[in-house]
Amino acid sequence: TPILATTSSSAAPSVADGGESPVIINLDHGDPTMYENFWKQKGEETTVVTSSWQHISYFSDIKNVCWFLEPGLMSAIKRLHKVVGNAVTEGRHIVVGTGSSQLYQAALYALSPHNASGPMNVVSAAPFYSSYPLMTDYLKSGLHKWAGDANVFNKQEPYIELVTSPNNPDGFTRQDVVKGDKGILVHDLAYYWPQYTPILSPADYDIMLFTVSKSTGHAGSRIGWALVKDREIAKKMTTFIEINTIGVSKDSQNRAAKILQAISDSCDHANQTDAETFFDYSYKLMAQRWKEIREAVNKTELFSLPNFPLETCSFSGRTFGQLPAFAWLKCEGEVDDCESFLRRHKILTRGGKHFGASMNYVRISMLSRENEFKLLTQRLPAITC
Ligand code: PMP
Repeated sequence: TPILATTSSSAAPSVADGGESPVIINLDHGDPTMYENFWKQKGEETTVVTSSWQHISYFSDIKNVCWFLEPGLMSAIKRLHKVVGNAVTEGRHIVVGTGSSQLYQAALYALSPHNASGPMNVVSAAPFYSSYPLMTDYLKSGLHKWAGDANVFNKQEPYIELVTSPNNPDGFTRQDVVKGDKGILVHDLAYYWPQYTPILSPADYDIMLFTVSKSTGHAGSRIGWALVKDREIAKKMTTFIEINTIGVSKDSQNRAAKILQAISDSCDHANQTDAETFFDYSYKLMAQRWKEIREAVNKTELFSLPNFPLETCSFSGRTFGQLPAFAWLKCEGEVDDCESFLRRHKILTRGGKHFGASMNYVRISMLSRENEFKLLTQRLPAITC
């Protein structure tokens, strides 16, 4: 099962070839290249220059629980959450990770009892992010095991529930669903940013995961962070990363810090300059793409998309429904394997079964470069059978 690898061996990155056969549109993974043009026009302002003598030591701040967290990144994270109002950082420890993927594993390590008779159950409500089962089980850990859809979990045993809000793949806002009292919650808030969803209040959970991959689009820098209430859990997560990779690239951390600070600066000065802020740009682009994909899908009876309630965003003041990073497309009618059906039309997507859901559904990335997205909105309505 792929995380980033595509589901088809013919899945080369797509480019318009202008030839007779339609090009492959590869929207299987959520590579956030759609923000590239915004960052191109920023130029110097967000460029980081590093000399060969810099960032040599393993250590960043030995007084901090997370001793490899660069102080500049810590303040940039706190400031951005304050500016956006999407998470409480007061009284929290920040743990930096090589993407939030590493922090997911660090959280499982920290939350699973090390002296238990069996591995800890890990659940998330279907449709869940397809990497959770893979990341939970690939080392066949004695500490934790994937226990599937949280909606049907009814064992009288301890569990960790992943709450992804807005959710990957379907974009809905979520709360925990398991009714038991033996659970520990981890909130994956990768998409709780104002280009994807109205911000309603600062998230205030025990363990919250964020990432630059989906907030700013810098997936290649591999920087994520956890906001952790409990000091002992933050320490254990730090220990996991210490054993796993002895810290997190300082070059990446400083690059991320520079970008987060530039976003906060532009939001703070939004009324004084004509320059568009990152969240204005990304919101408008997402809104435009959702308008276009809905128009494309409405032209045919073959597909449908979820609808979202309108809410007012406390950050932007705009009233809108979710603009998810993925389109959770349903094949209506006779087709029961939507992924294979679309692959026949040279559109590569990720089928529902990877998310613990029906094969009638596929997940389509909304975060590609413009040319690929345009091809999608042209090709979808042209499909007849
Ligand atoms: N959580 C969710 C819900 C995601 O969609 C992703 C990225 N696809 C991640 C975590 C991992 O992000 P990162 O690039 O920071 O490892």
